[in-house]
Order: sequence, then structure tokens, then C-alpha cells
Amino acid sequence: MQTQPQASHFVDGQYLEDTAGDLIEVIYPATGEIIAKVHAATPAVIEAAIASGLRAQKEWAALSGTERGRVLRRAADIIRDRNHDLSVLETYDTGKPYSETICADATSAADALEYFGGLAGSLTGEHVQMGENWGYTIREPLGLCVGIGAWNYPTQIACWKGAPALACGNAMIFKPSETTPLSALKVAEILVEAGAPAGLFNVVQGMGAVGASLVTDPRVAKVSLTGSVGTGRKVYAAAAESIKHVTMELGGKSPLVIFDDADVEAAVGGAILGNFYSTGQVCSNGTRVFVQKGIKEAFLKRLSERLATAVIGDPMDEATNFGPMVSKRQRDIVLSYIEKGKAEGARLVAGGSAIEGNGFYIQPTVFADVTDDMTIAREEIFGPVMSVLDFDTEEEVIPRANDTEMGLSAGVFTRDLTRAHRVISQFEAGSCFINSYNDAPVELPFGGSGLSGVGRENSKAAINYYSQLKSVFVRMGEVESPF
Ligand code: NAD
Repeated sequence: MQTQPQASHFVDGQYLEDTAGDLIEVIYPATGEIIAKVHAATPAVIEAAIASGLRAQKEWAALSGTERGRVLRRAADIIRDRNHDLSVLETYDTGKPYSETICADATSAADALEYFGGLAGSLTGEHVQMGENWGYTIREPLGLCVGIGAWNYPTQIACWKGAPALACGNAMIFKPSETTPLSALKVAEILVEAGAPAGLFNVVQGMGAVGASLVTDPRVAKVSLTGSVGTGRKVYAAAAESIKHVTMELGGKSPLVIFDDADVEAAVGGAILGNFYSTGQVCSNGTRVFVQKGIKEAFLKRLSERLATAVIGDPMDEATNFGPMVSKRQRDIVLSYIEKGKAEGARLVAGGSAIEGNGFYIQPTVFADVTDDMTIAREEIFGPVMSVLDFDTEEEVIPRANDTEMGLSAGVFTRDLTRAHRVISQFEAGSCFINSYNDAPVELPFGGSGLSGVGRENSKAAINYYSQLKSVFVRMGEVESPF
């Protein structure tokens, strides 16, 4: 497959190059080979993206919601038709196994385009009667939005941000992570093919500095970031300068609580999905697995048995279900956390090392007997490292599960329905799961509380973060004024 894009950026309906920008080498994580080279956006590229975005937004907002929705739904169909090629490209970009990308990346992007495309025609304000007087609200787009992505779900993130933004009548400039710049370009291409006006969805490449120059531009109305808490703080502060709207999808250190009465197979499956899918590079992962003492041995036994069946290898092989880390840098960060886990006295029960070779592979790793104060139980690792912590009672585990400044996700496994809902109601987290983990359908809001962020993606809730209401009061009688 041709992994080198035609040019680095996609602006005003076409590929655009400016080799004066810093060189970014794109590396295939499975082999360490350079598979493409792009350049960071120069001020001239950024200016072209902003100017064309502003122009396209006006044209786009003048269409009816149904007309806008039609374009988004057409784009969803094209993405589904090309799912294989897009998934191969996503696998090159991220190293995630094709067995995952074929069902979780472009397809999730298509779901977002389809869902928000369907919603676009029914976005309305409301009528409010107040005696003989009345009022109404007009739901208006914000204008030019900026999306900034992380590297774990490049296509999905582009569309989770782009689809609701466009449905509401906005334009978007998307800056992918410098680690995975390839697939968002395809989304931009496909939107134009589906009928979006040139400039409506521009993609510019670059490191944090390019993101920062977009965030500080006064012509930009909104910023939606998916990234770490540290970057979130910077972007939120920069956006505050010009009082921009923001959505922040940041990191997590989420709890997964497994009670004695849980179905062991289901709980082990949930813990695997919540720790090892995408080689552990998922923000909502339930990396603190609290296991009630009565089920602990059975849980660890089945977990070890099932981990031994993981197929680690060539991500393009359809049988592979565990790929490399996205980069050498990320692998080294994860390895340093594993060393901290060992040094602080956690018991290593699986994995614990890098896998020899040129790729950035690491074994799926499980620590047991982890305590709340250990570094591996406190900091986001963003890799395949599960911490298993023991607990005795429901009363004890809830405050421990909530003992994190982040609050992205939380899950519970139990056969006791009442307890499941009681526990969920006490979790301080935005996206929760009962007898499941990490499902993120477009129909449900996704996002966190605390340091995990502000705002929600997906579902009807996302509309509120990409539109604003204008209120209109209509007086039917005389105007009464004091003089
Ligand atoms: P990161 O914070 O390093 O980078 C995210 C993006 O921000 C990149 O595109 C980067 O270039 C850009 N950026 C960096 N500095 C910037 C600045 N000053 N101004 C503007 N943009 C800037 O994150 P990452 O390493 O790419 O991704 C991993 C992190 O993302 C993890 O913490 C993970 O939990 C989080 N994440 C969150 C979600 C979610 O939905 N909550 C989803 C995926 C990943």
C-alpha cells in the first residue's frame, strides 16, 4: 500500500505542500521503518486553512440541516466501502492490529458521520410561550472549530469531532497527532468526495506548536482536544484568552470493580478489553482492577490462561490481536512504569518486558497485590499494564475507586443488579459500564469528569458543544417603560 500521502496537508479541497515546515517522519511501529514523511504546517499553510475554513463555513451554514446531513451520510458510506484500505492505513499509522482497525476505527468514524448526518435535519431551537408574549431560540453554529487529536484512534477522533461540528453548520481544521498524521487526510478527501465544500474540513500537520497557533487565533470559535491532562491544561488556558468554547477529552486512571458474585469469564473478558485492547492505549481503560478477595484466585488464574492465548505479532496478520506500542518513546514510558511497579513491591503475574526486535512490542503485563499508593495505581500509563488490587467490601471499594483526580470511566462486574446500579451511582466518572468495559457507541455521550475533561462527544449531547442558542423575545402588547 502507498503510505506516503500526496502532500502533507489537505486545505481548501486539495492536498497542499510546504516543505519549509519541520520534517515529521512517520514510523510503522511493528518494524520501526519510516513509511511516510510529512511537514509541519507553516504560518502560510495555517493561514490558508483558516481563510478557507471561514469561507466554507458560511456557505455550509446556509444549507438546510438535511442537505448537510446528506453529505455526512454519503461520507459514512464511502468510508464503509473503503474500510479495508482505511484500516490497513490505520494499522500502518498506529501499529494496532488489522483485526481491530477493521472493526473499531474507520467503522466508528462512519458511525459518527451517519449518526450526526441523521441528526442534522432535526436540529432546532424551541418555542417558549410566556402569557401573550413569547420567545424562541435559534440554534446557531459556533463558526470555525479546531480539532486536535491524540494518536490512538486517529480516524475515529477526526470524525467524533468533525461529524457533530459539521452537522451543526461549523467548519473544522483538524490537526492530527504528529505520531499518526496519515488517516485524517483520508477523512478530508472523502468529505470533499461526498460533497462538502472545499475548506470545510481541513487537515494540517504539526507538533504542539501548530496546535497552539490554531488555538490562539482569534478567528477560531472552538477547540476540541483529545490528549493528555498536561496538554489539556495548556490548551484550555490558551483558549480562555479569547473565551473560546472547549471540549477536553483527556486522560484517565479508571477503576474496574469486580465483586465475588461476578461471572468470572465475563469479568476476565472485561478486564482484558479494558487493559489490552489497542495494546492498552485507550484513555478510558480500567487500569485499576479492584477484585473482591473471594474471587481473586479464580480471576487471576483465568486471566493468566487467557493472556497466554494472546496472538502477538505482525499487525497485518488477521490472527494477530495484540500489536506493538505506537512509538519507541511510548514503549519506553511504559517500561519505566513496569520497573516502578516491580520496585514498589507489586507482584508481577504476567509479562513485564519488552519483546526483542525492531518493533515497539511489549508483553501484556499484569501486577497483583497492588496497593492504592503505588505509582502504577496512581498515574496514567497508557500501555498494556493492568494493576489488580484487592478489596473486602462495597463500602470500602467505592472511595478507593474514586480516589483519583481524573474521572473518565468506571466499570462494575456483579450479578446483583441493585448493587450494580448503586455502585454506578457513586462512581465519580463520566462513562460507566455494567458487566462490560470500553463500549463507546455513538448513541451514548462520551467524556469525563475531574481532570479527565469537560464536555461530551457523541450522542445528542455533543450538539450542545458545537452550537449556541440565540434567544429572541417577542412582545405582543404595549412596551411599558418608566418614562
Ligand atoms: P498529547 O497530549 O501529547 O497530544 C495530544 C495532541 O495535542 C497532539 O496532537 C499534540 O500535537 C497536541 N498538542 C500538544 N501540545 C499542544 C499545545 N500546547 N497546544 C495545542 N496542541 C498541542 O497526547 P497523546 O500522547 O497524543 O495521547 C495520549 C493522551 O491522550 C493520553 O493521556 C490519553 O488518555 C489521552 N486520550 C484521551 C481520550 C479521551 O477521549 N478522553 C482519547 C484518547 C486519548
